[in-house]
Amino acid sequence: MNKKEFFSLLASVPKAELHIHIEAVITMASVKKLYKKRFGNAMSKEEEKSLFAYDDLPGFIAAFLKVQDLFTDVSDFDLVFDDFAKYLEKNNVRYCEAFFAPSAFVKKGFKYSDMVENFSKNIKKIKKEKDITIKLLVDVSRTFGLENAEANYKMFKEVPCEEIIGIGLGGNEVKGPCNLFGPVFVKAHADGFHAVAHAGEDVGPESVWDAVKILNSERIGHGITSIQDPELVEYLKANKIPLEVCPTSNVFTKHYVKAMNEHPVRQLYDAGVLITIGSDDPVFFKTTVSDEYYNLYSELNFTLSEIEDLICNSFKASFLAETKKTAFIKEVHKAFKEYKAAQPELF
Ligand SMILES: [Zn+2]
Repeated sequence: MNKKEFFSLLASVPKAELHIHIEAVITMASVKKLYKKRFGNAMSKEEEKSLFAYDDLPGFIAAFLKVQDLFTDVSDFDLVFDDFAKYLEKNNVRYCEAFFAPSAFVKKGFKYSDMVENFSKNIKKIKKEKDITIKLLVDVSRTFGLENAEANYKMFKEVPCEEIIGIGLGGNEVKGPCNLFGPVFVKAHADGFHAVAHAGEDVGPESVWDAVKILNSERIGHGITSIQDPELVEYLKANKIPLEVCPTSNVFTKHYVKAMNEHPVRQLYDAGVLITIGSDDPVFFKTTVSDEYYNLYSELNFTLSEIEDLICNSFKASFLAETKKTAFIKEVHKAFKEYKAAQPELF
């Protein structure tokens, strides 16, 4: 199956995406609009180039913070959600759990409750117009220490919202190791919220151990360094703890993966770990979730039935109700079956 055929098959299949950051789903056109609004003049070619000049995780995080800094008021999130809706529709993502990191916005004076109100309005609009469901996880952030993460959790808890279902932990993994954030996760679990953490992206398997043992993280963002520790791989498999793998993101930040065809997702999948595929930060890594499936198919020898299985996993590993998961998974199998019936020579 060539690339065009693969994308046409994929477009017919409903998907869930569980690892994506809303500020990074913004398009370059919208980044430029925000820049103009913030500074009064157009973004120069050099500035555009320097924004994307990074080759490691800290460099990327700095760029992420620069984009967050372009926002001048809460209504700027309307642009983000317009781009987000288009992205989800284009990739036939019908259910999405996305991260939002409030720290930088709160620091510049945005009111958390105003942001939540904006998100809720936009998410309801997308549901109504496109029948796509978005749920958010508030990234309490590991970059600015435990006190900041606890303050974020407090805000999150004080402004209940049906579209926000739990917390995440993202940011600088070296500076902010998982083991520092136990108190926030204990509270989130006790309060009945979902809780997930990025781990094993920029630090070895010990970070994933801390995420599962100390944070009781329900899923692991990335978790790719788990492959270095066979005992951990067994633990993830036995406890059905999903990894949200974002291949291009790891190749881009270069720490543990130098090239797509060396990505450990192949070994982790073969070892029986529950893998889901995400795009992480589309505008920064110039990718989409459909591109990621294609990377697996074209560079890592994933078969079409393995791609089908991974798409089913995206629903399985989600926080959807069991009945909804079953219904979506049925739709995935149906879409593959119909495509195969129409074009059997491609399988
Ligand atoms: Zn991420």
